[in-house]
Amino acid sequence: MARNSVKIGNITIGGDNPPVVQSMTNTDTADISKTVEQVNQLAQAGSEIVRITVNNEAAAEAVPEIVAQTNVPIVGDFHYNGHTLLGKYPKMAESLAKYRINPGNVGFGEKHDPQFKQMVEIAIEYDKPVRIGVNWGSLDQQIATKLMDENAKTVNPKPANEILREAMIISALTSAEKAQEIGLSANKIIISCKTSRAADLIAVYRDLAKRGDYALHLGLTEAGMGVKGIAASAAALAPLLLEGIGDTIRVSLTPHPDEPRTKEVEVAQEILQSLGIRSFNPQVSACPGCGRTTSTYFQELADDIHKFLRMRMPEWRKTYNGVENLNVAVMGCIVNGPGESKHADIGISLPGTGENPAAPVFIDGKKAMTLRGEHITSEFQQIVESYIEEKYTQCRANPTINKQFLT
Ligand code: SF4
Repeated sequence: MARNSVKIGNITIGGDNPPVVQSMTNTDTADISKTVEQVNQLAQAGSEIVRITVNNEAAAEAVPEIVAQTNVPIVGDFHYNGHTLLGKYPKMAESLAKYRINPGNVGFGEKHDPQFKQMVEIAIEYDKPVRIGVNWGSLDQQIATKLMDENAKTVNPKPANEILREAMIISALTSAEKAQEIGLSANKIIISCKTSRAADLIAVYRDLAKRGDYALHLGLTEAGMGVKGIAASAAALAPLLLEGIGDTIRVSLTPHPDEPRTKEVEVAQEILQSLGIRSFNPQVSACPGCGRTTSTYFQELADDIHKFLRMRMPEWRKTYNGVENLNVAVMGCIVNGPGESKHADIGISLPGTGENPAAPVFIDGKKAMTLRGEHITSEFQQIVESYIEEKYTQCRANPTINKQFLT
């Protein structure tokens, strides 16, 4: 089912549009220069929407300047005091491209509804979309308690996580309905229900997608660090994305202290590209290596090619239409090397142990030349560069190119 289309700044999500990559800063929003620097890094890495926390008055005051100094839709993330900040800082309210409201953190008891209404009315006044972002860790306790109590009274109570999943969906959908009753149109509403466990996330979003047409923001919350965070995010997002669920996605990685924040953008892009949903960068297929590769030469070449492609992409992307679809293969020996290389646009099959010290290069499925000696890496890079120049149309020659996803 096609979701409602929602315009966020200059980007339209939902409808027939492919999923858009979103990220979030971890700087103190009140620190304008650091936040601008990180927003620009995220945008340069390919984040098409960036969320920043607006947690206090200093942050609210900084927002218009951050928006002015960046070139990507900026979303304000509000918890507890969003109604006050949005009311007190109209320039901030006007400059943001979207507001994220967490219905579990809008206010408690009788304050909840009027504070939620206040935020939605400001969104209507400034014509801004709103994400109703429910989170497993800050679920509306009134809804959760009510459903848990009802479940406890049944003859065969369901497991607690099933009830909590239903509570998240009810919180999101009833909040969206309330926002519509206040006057926000359905094509200004995006919903998310994030959990930290892949199986729960998949179950929640499948259900959520069946029960409404709202555009959906998708992400596994608190995915964690390193390999665990990447694997958990891919495991959670892949089945849903393949079913067409997810209009914006975010990978919530905890970066290692020496890791850039942009890692989450890179992972989100790789997930979409691995699934064949969108293309961002040329892909390098490389075999894992085995006992037939005795040196690290082949690993170094695969790594060098990968880095070379990433390094050249900002320039190529401006000049060559479709270059992100390029496939390169770097293979370790004759067993699968020539075969895999023939399937790629350009492939190189390095000599394995005991093989003739020569590296055949395949272009568009045909053996084009053989490289030997000390400079295989630089020669292969030059072959890739020439292939791109010849194969991909210059952007200037194709005015229909979709500039929305160019960064
Ligand atoms: S292509 Fe050759 S080196 Fe690479 S994994 Fe297969 S057998 Fe091993």
